[in-house]
Amino acid sequence: MSKAILEAKEQVLWGCRTMCSRGYVLGTAGNISARVEGGDLFVITPTSFPYEDLCSADLVVADMKGNIVEGERRPSIEFAMHCSIMLKRPDARCIVHTHSRFATAASSIVGVNVIPVIDIETVIYIGGDIPIAPFASPGSEELAMNVANSMGTVAGILMEAHGTIGVGRTMKEAMIASDNIERTCEMFLAIKACGEIKPLPEDFLRTFKERSLKKRGLL
Ligand SMILES: [Zn+2]
Repeated sequence: MSKAILEAKEQVLWGCRTMCSRGYVLGTAGNISARVEGGDLFVITPTSFPYEDLCSADLVVADMKGNIVEGERRPSIEFAMHCSIMLKRPDARCIVHTHSRFATAASSIVGVNVIPVIDIETVIYIGGDIPIAPFASPGSEELAMNVANSMGTVAGILMEAHGTIGVGRTMKEAMIASDNIERTCEMFLAIKACGEIKPLPEDFLRTFKERSLKKRGLL
């Protein structure tokens, strides 16, 4: 096995451990992937496999056309979704998909189609408002398409009544995006119970959205 595949597997395993330690998933929910340096391969978690038992040999290696090139297990049911994000966003080298509770709750409110920027961290780490991809069945091509169409240039989005997707050049960046989606959604729910969100000044948003793109290598 190449050093690059081993390194991508290490990133995925770190992501799985961290996602579980944060309480973002229950059981076998959620999934994680990382590109392999220097080619069009990526590593993804297997479907329906408990994270506490997961080791390097359980991970699946695939190419961007959807062919499995290594691994005995079946890949995550959201395989097509991970492919669609990587094809749409070359900067998304790592992807973390969680079912964290505040994010899923916020994505399920009637009439809410986007989670607005609340504070400075949302702008810096996400890059702006958090889009909500319209609902489609888990594992479907329709969901993969809805997600790809919603990604824009932000570091993370929500899937309606489902969960979060955080992306980054490293697994740490993808996890920080997931952390900030969950944090923003927790604050959003708290504010919704009390009143309205105070909008941030337009010139601040413009400057810091640009700063976020630079920070994430997109400008
Ligand atoms: Zn899911």
